[in-house]
Parts: sequence; C-alpha cells; structure tokens
Amino acid sequence: MSSALDLENQYCAHNYHPLPVVLSRGEGVYVWDENGKKYLDMMSAYSAVSHGHANPRLVAALTKQAETLCIVSRAFYTDKLGEFLKLACDITGQDMALPMNTGAEAVETAVKAARRWGYESKGIEQNKAEIIACTGNFHGRTTTIISFSDETEYQKNFGPLTPGFKIVEYGNADALEAMITPNTAAFLVEPIQGEGGIIIPPKGYLKRCQEICEKNNVLLIADEIQTGLGRTGSLLACDHEGVKPDGLILGKALGGGILPVSMFLAKQEVMDIFVPGTHGSTFGGNPLAAAVGMEALNILVEDKLPERSMEMGNYMIGELRKINSPLIDTIRGSGLFVGIEIDPGLGSAREICERLMERGLLSKETHETVVRLAPPLVITLEQIDWAVKQITEVLQDMDEVRLAS
Ligand SMILES: *Cc1c(COP(=O)(O)O)cnc(C)c1O
Repeated sequence: MSSALDLENQYCAHNYHPLPVVLSRGEGVYVWDENGKKYLDMMSAYSAVSHGHANPRLVAALTKQAETLCIVSRAFYTDKLGEFLKLACDITGQDMALPMNTGAEAVETAVKAARRWGYESKGIEQNKAEIIACTGNFHGRTTTIISFSDETEYQKNFGPLTPGFKIVEYGNADALEAMITPNTAAFLVEPIQGEGGIIIPPKGYLKRCQEICEKNNVLLIADEIQTGLGRTGSLLACDHEGVKPDGLILGKALGGGILPVSMFLAKQEVMDIFVPGTHGSTFGGNPLAAAVGMEALNILVEDKLPERSMEMGNYMIGELRKINSPLIDTIRGSGLFVGIEIDPGLGSAREICERLMERGLLSKETHETVVRLAPPLVITLEQIDWAVKQITEVLQDMDEVRLAS
C-alpha cells in the first residue's frame, strides 16, 4: 500500500472512488505513477487535458504570466482579459463572455442569465421563470445544479432543492416543444451527454431544438464544458448541426489542462442583463487564467485539434468496432469522445478499467456500464493501436474467465 494513497484516503473526503494508482508526473498523452510506471491517459481529466499534459506552449504561457501578473480581481482592468474574451467570442461566434473558474460556476452563471433575461427581456412574471433540462444530464454539483439532475444519488439528503426546473427526455424534440410554456426562459442541453455515458442524440435533434426555442422565444443554452473545444471532432459539438446557441458554456479544456478556466458566452442581448453587482467571482477572468486560456485557444486553432480529433476518433472507433467480444454491447462516439457500452450481464466497466490500468492504460467507467475513452487530442495512430490492443486483450481475458467459471 502506498502511503500517498493511505494519506489521501484518510484525509480527503470520500466523494470519489479513484482507481488505486498514485500519479506523480505527466507529459503529453502519458502519466507516470510514483514507482515510475507509465500509463496512457485516456481519461484526460474528463477532457480537461485535451492539449496533453504539460503542453510546452501552455507551460511557457503560464510561467511567463506568473512572473508578470497573476491576480488583481475584476476591481481593475487588465491587459489580458479583453484579448482572451475577444478570441473566445470570435471563434465561437458569440458576442460577449463572462469569465468564471470551474464548470459549475459557469453553469450557475448561465442559469442566472437565463432567469434574469426571462424577467427583464421576455417579461415573465416574477419568480415564475422555468428552465428545462434533460434526462441524464450532468451540469455540475452545486445545490442549484443538482436540483435539476435526474440522478437521485446526486440529490439524496441535499434538499431542499432549488425550484424552477423541469426535466424533458433527452433526444426528444417533440417533448421539448410540448413542455414549453410562456414561463420558459431557457432550454439547457449538452449536445452529447458525457457523464451520462457518451449519449449521442438523434441526428437533427439540436437543429430542431433550436427552431423550437427560436419560435417560442426561449434561450437555447448549450453546455459544452466537456464536448467543446475540439473534443467531438469540431470546435463545438453544436457545429455538427450548424447550430449557434443563444448561450454557450465552456470549461475543462479551456484551461489547457493547467488551470480551472470557464466562461458563459452569449449574444449581447442576454449578457446585457448583467450590471455591476449582479454577479461576480474573485478569481474569474484573472490574468493568469486569461493568458493560459488564450494560449489554449490559440493552440487549438493553430494545431487544428478539432480536425485531428475527428480523424483520430474515426480511426479509433473503426478499430474498436473490429473487436469481436460478447462483452461489448455498443460502441459510440464522436471524434475522440468514445464510449464502449458493456453488457452488464457479462462484465463490469469498472473491472475492465482496473484490468486496463494494470496494463498501463487509464480510463474510467461512467454509469457502471460504459468505458469512457477520451484521450488528449494530440494522441497518435500508433498510440491508439496500442490502446485498442490492450482493450482487445482485456476483453478476451475476461471472456475466458467468464467461460471457465
Ligand atoms: C464537468 C462538467 C461540468 C462541471 O464542471 P466542473 O468544472 O466540474 O464544475 C458541467 N457540465 C458538463 C457537461 C461537464 O462535463
């Protein structure tokens, strides 16, 4: 037993169930444990590490800015924030942005924006605004956000929950249309559900949601904290259907795998509802985060990481589909955002992840039955081949054990 593992177990709240590996270093697609064993990281911190660990350009941007100016709060202007937000708006087609740190804070920002827009622009009666979210959603862990989760484990004994939310079936645009009332301010949706198990809605779903929202004067807000910034093979997952949402939430990879950087972006009409005093964050938009975030976006565009994600993702999905194993129910994905659904009667996703870990491949199960594969977008064909070989052999081993018993 590692003492680092024991210490963490003793002193850190048990709000996660980590795989038993103690990591101490990372570079590119690889991480190393405290004994020097190397692992291919196919988790990349839930897509926060799309640029790879310790990306040299990002480390350079971080250290240069750290030596120059880190934190001053939004009580003052800085020479970094405007430039960063202009770039973010330019590449996403949005007008303005409100910088935050973690994903959940950016989702909270979107919720506040939608409600206030509902009262001040749409004319909804005070305290009647509704926001519609989806079955299987994941938007973070604050008290308000778990209030519209349909995962009872996320809510149990954390009540009273925040009212004002409705849940509609994910992937069903007709159900959305039927649920909208004059009090509906916004529809909050993940273009592909990540934590939900890499769930891809029917083709044309998002486009129809956009039409329905537009017709009913409801804001379409896309949570692209996980799907955004190249993960699914385009800059935004909304781009696959040519949809430009009224509000857009980014996080995770926006911090280049180095810092927590998030933001809510929107058209001006929505962002204008924020006036001094209505919202804020001590650290949101600090120059250190802005410098790293800007470099993260520059690398994404210059190195064509979204295109790379599409090419490598297509290759990986094709290779995975060649695996002939009864344990595999389905394989689904978009770009380097891939889930292998395991037949729960034949094996557990957790056991697969544990066996992959022993072979030097890190991944994590989601929802007990799905093995998530979301490596840094800089992964190569050879590295994918190696990963597919490990997965093939683990599934073979498990099938042999199963048949022998
Ligand atoms: C991870 C995630 C969040 C929450 O982000 P945190 O930084 O963990 O607060 C919200 N929405 C989606 C879609 C996510 O994947």
